[in-house]
Amino acid sequence: MTGDQPVLVVGGGPVGMCLALALVAQGRRVEVFEAEPRLQSDLRGAAYHPPTLELFEAWGILDEVRAAGVEVRELCYWERRTRECVARFDYRLIADDARFPFRLHCMQHVLCRIAADRLAASPLARVHLGHRFVELQQEPDHVVARFATAAGEREVVGAFLCGADGAHSAVRKRLELAFEGVSHEDRFLVLNGSFDIDADLPGLAPVNYVFDPDEWVILLKLPGFRRIVFRARPDEDEAALRSPVGVAARLHGLVGRPVAYSLINLAIYRVHERVAESFHRGRAAILGDAAHINNPAGGMALNAGLQDAADLARTIAAIDDGADPAILSGYTMRRREQSALPILARAGQNLAELRAQEAREREARNQAFRAAAADPALARLHLLRFSMLPAF
Ligand SMILES: Cc1cc2nc3c(=O)[nH]c(=O)nc-3n(C[C@H](O)[C@H](O)[C@H](O)COP(=O)(O)OP(=O)(O)OC[C@H]3O[C@@H](n4cnc5c(N)ncnc54)[C@H](O)[C@@H]3O)c2cc1C
Repeated sequence: MTGDQPVLVVGGGPVGMCLALALVAQGRRVEVFEAEPRLQSDLRGAAYHPPTLELFEAWGILDEVRAAGVEVRELCYWERRTRECVARFDYRLIADDARFPFRLHCMQHVLCRIAADRLAASPLARVHLGHRFVELQQEPDHVVARFATAAGEREVVGAFLCGADGAHSAVRKRLELAFEGVSHEDRFLVLNGSFDIDADLPGLAPVNYVFDPDEWVILLKLPGFRRIVFRARPDEDEAALRSPVGVAARLHGLVGRPVAYSLINLAIYRVHERVAESFHRGRAAILGDAAHINNPAGGMALNAGLQDAADLARTIAAIDDGADPAILSGYTMRRREQSALPILARAGQNLAELRAQEAREREARNQAFRAAAADPALARLHLLRFSMLPAF
């Protein structure tokens, strides 16, 4: 029965839409169900590392994503208190390690739109907006999912169900998969806009991590604007964080003088680190933020979700070709044990480096970064790890 039934994908975010592209690339019929009446448009993830760029190529969207993005070929670490550029890394050092040896910044909602246009042109794919997943019934050779729509409930039969429905995943909850981990007290204050700071921080790269024990900062160049991410302390009032006075004070504190700026938007996020106990149950699987979330230091979460999508599409294709559905346990092994858990540790380390407290610890960190930047072999290793490439 499975071969002629579509794969049902819950969630039309970047991971769900790209899973649909990956399934179509395997010649598989797919239907995507997005709860909201329109695709997402908020300014969230934007960074894609070299292995993800190869996936975009395989899914036939690389040129469009590149055209809508900014290529990042330099990465810089700063000491906030002295404004010293501690270490600078040039992506030319990994020129022989990847087909696309750079990082690309393209907003995730633009990726969703590019994927949606491709799916609309395929006879194998359908995207249903305004369809909220509510229930799942699993049978030995198919699944039956129920969706709430403005016109009432709808039942759909599929070969598999894939939950790419984000951190609060209804699919994960329906599968009764625990989402173990921690939520931090710290929050991220994200400012998107233009900021007159270049003269104060000469040599600003497209990606900058600014070390500070109290208020570390991440500065990114995104298509058409800049993003500045500040640590927000647990005791800071949200209204004060959002106020123009609060924003002006933070920017002043960063460069030591009043800063002219114009905001596109401001967002405040809690930081969570969680991984589901398993990424599959029966003929259902979860991927992306539904399966794992980590702090954004390093820009790895969405990349990992897109890599889940590529693996899951291949696994479903193998089951279609006659493999036992039990091989979904291999998907959990590769994507949970070998990807999500190591990424969680790596993102935690990135955050620990940003906010190191003790003077001795900070000096040792800076020495290690200086030494890495000064030695081409170590610098290459740093970039490989930072780019989610194997580093031997
Ligand atoms: C400020 C910020 C910056 C970030 N930067 C980066 C970065 O640079 N690089 C990176 O790799 N990651 C980054 N991330 C993380 C990235 O945004 C997430 O990993 C990404 O959104 C995950 O995509 P997803 O498709 O799994 O989930 P989501 O984007 O959350 O999409 C889930 C979709 O499912 C839909 N949905 C929810 N419930 C249902 C339901 N019951 N039925 C049907 N549909 C449903 C939602 O409406 C939504 O459209 C960042 C995050 C933030 C907050």
